[in-house]
Amino acid sequence: MRFPTRSRSSHPVAAVLPLVVFLILVAAASIAGTTDTAPYRILVTNDDGIDSPGLVALVEALSALGEVTVVAPSENQSGIGHALNLRDPIFVRRRELAGRPATVLTATPATCVRVAIANIFEESHPPDLVVSGVNRGLNFGRNAYISGTVAAAREAALQGIPAIAVSLAREAHPDYAVAAAATAEVAAVVKANGLPEAVFLNVNVPATATKGLKLTRQSRLFGTESYEPHSNPYGRPYLWSKFEQPTTEAEPGSDVAAVHDGYIAVTPLQAHESADAALEELSPLFDPSESVPLPTSDE
Ligand code: MN
Repeated sequence: MRFPTRSRSSHPVAAVLPLVVFLILVAAASIAGTTDTAPYRILVTNDDGIDSPGLVALVEALSALGEVTVVAPSENQSGIGHALNLRDPIFVRRRELAGRPATVLTATPATCVRVAIANIFEESHPPDLVVSGVNRGLNFGRNAYISGTVAAAREAALQGIPAIAVSLAREAHPDYAVAAAATAEVAAVVKANGLPEAVFLNVNVPATATKGLKLTRQSRLFGTESYEPHSNPYGRPYLWSKFEQPTTEAEPGSDVAAVHDGYIAVTPLQAHESADAALEELSPLFDPSESVPLPTSDE
């Protein structure tokens, strides 16, 4: 792992010890006639923070599928979208989560994925799958755009790694184990088949999921955002953002409709955003031969 440490022995024996141990292990493996059986590596993150119950549930459910490593934000980062930590220090803390090694970062979910790939996983063995969640609250329709949970999966997809984001309806007593089990089912499909280039899956689980997984398209619905006026104890006015999920009739076949009907919605999203379908329609508007020459810097 490539993180600064406070002190390290520089004794020559200590320096070659890992190499000696490695050589002994290689020799033992060849004697036993074993072949390379690299584990399926799963990076688990979220946007609700390291202490959220959805993260533990996911780690437990995915441990049957592969070797789970947790890299998660220290604090709640919900709604942070694809923000990155570019101008502030990222503090690193080690701990365990459900028996797996966990790294806690003072960072956004997308940064957690970047740091994990760059500094925690070996360069030669990046994660095979990144799973983000289980988020407290749905991330369907166009809400997915601002979600930190979804952004962590998008970041992985941008880096060529299959990824899944998973969110559960916000209820008084949400059952994260159900959502995590459904995610393990989706993850098994991805493990066996992979995903198309730059495509990742956005999974949304209703409060009472009884009808199974359903492949859906992203709804065009967005929730409603309102800004309620309040004032602090000193009388200074402030606004407080209040978001409500879409309640209007959703498009048939969409993630919002599926969740409202009691299905677990599995929506393929694309990290590569080029609107290729719009090129033909827009190309007459941007003809270089008809462009007005721009003034040069000499004039
Ligand atoms: Mn969240």
